[in-house]
Amino acid sequence: MFLSALLLAVPQAQHMVHSVSDISQEFSFYMDGRFARQYLDGYGRDVRNWGSLSKLDLSNANLLLLTEGDSRIPYSDGAIDNVNCFLQEGGTVLMMLKPVVQKGKEFSFNKSPGSVLAKKYGARMADVLHLDQQHVWTIKHDDKLDNPLLAWRKVGEGNFLVGSRKLFGHRPDASDPINAEWITPLLLKLTKDKKVDPKTAFKGPWAEHEMRLGPLVVEYHDGTEPFARAIGEEYQKIRPHLVEVTGVEPSEGMIKRLLILPTGGGGFSSGARIAIGAWWGNYPKQRYGMVELIGHEAGHSWVLPHAEPLWNEPIATWLGIQVGKRMGMPKAEETLNRQLGKGRKLDPDFTKINPLSQDAPRDLIWGKSYFVFEEMERRFGPGAMAKYFRTKRATVSATHSSYTMDDCVAIWSLATGEDLFPWFRSLAFDVQAERTKFYP
Ligand SMILES: [Zn+2]
Repeated sequence: MFLSALLLAVPQAQHMVHSVSDISQEFSFYMDGRFARQYLDGYGRDVRNWGSLSKLDLSNANLLLLTEGDSRIPYSDGAIDNVNCFLQEGGTVLMMLKPVVQKGKEFSFNKSPGSVLAKKYGARMADVLHLDQQHVWTIKHDDKLDNPLLAWRKVGEGNFLVGSRKLFGHRPDASDPINAEWITPLLLKLTKDKKVDPKTAFKGPWAEHEMRLGPLVVEYHDGTEPFARAIGEEYQKIRPHLVEVTGVEPSEGMIKRLLILPTGGGGFSSGARIAIGAWWGNYPKQRYGMVELIGHEAGHSWVLPHAEPLWNEPIATWLGIQVGKRMGMPKAEETLNRQLGKGRKLDPDFTKINPLSQDAPRDLIWGKSYFVFEEMERRFGPGAMAKYFRTKRATVSATHSSYTMDDCVAIWSLATGEDLFPWFRSLAFDVQAERTKFYP
């Protein structure tokens, strides 16, 4: 769902907004469509820019949405030029900057890459906005404190807006105040300075560089290039361990591409493609977090075509942990034990709480999942997980619908040669052999 352009319904004969949400300087799920849904739904189209900002074709766009970015990816000169040309030709740019909490006597401004751009037009963010040449700006003030919240000025034929990131939404369910009642009309008014053509192509470019590393194509742009090879090579080292631990190759068509995401905030998997945050866990200074993340996201592709019930997330991280262990990383065992401990706090011998119940706490689900995997290895290993995945592949056809916990315990039973339904029930799992067709 992250990869498609967002089509916003638009009534005919109305001013059209073509917005580009830039996620090349820093990726966030918020900028991957949610901003447009919160402020521009019904007024046009939004696409994402996944490629280098310097190369972005803005000819058929009238709104460019920017967040402050990360110091690891400064705005290139080409990006700054491209933004400036867009402004000169009538485009509207919105730059969202985080206010800086002032500590002690030391006064400081936001120093993010986005701030460098904003400063060129005379705006800086500290705890509040600071504006040079006040007379060129139109300012929206905070009602209570009289601080400037958002300000805009003409640049060429276009408009440069700068404001606090806090004005805009954060929560995934859009339940926070997002000020759409005045931000949407403002964006509509300013974008009228540039007409766009709804009949001409308007697309968000993908990361423009590719590098083939063994079975994988690594996708990246100019800013993520410094991370691309190292992360692709980590995957190459991780892959054989995953094959060993799961006993199988990734299923047909899975994990062909690895996209380097400009973020430290994690990753995602869509089966054929995994996306990895370039500086997750402070990579490359620290390595374990990256190994675990790649193991996790790749693990999602490995378990397909049938996602695991209940523990689809825990099993992905457990696979990442196993890879870390096999690479001799002490943090792997620590991560495992920490989660087991959190689970035991809620259910000391893991026999009380049904992890499938609606209100089962997250730490219980994760801790109990790890407990099961470790017990399986202890009793039926080494390679119990490999036996499980080989049996799952051989037994459950790709077309089988909804792989349940009953199915899962049946496969574990077939894989180990022991009826494990009683044991899972002793751990408070509500599972029954009668509800699956895989256990005779
Ligand atoms: Zn996951």
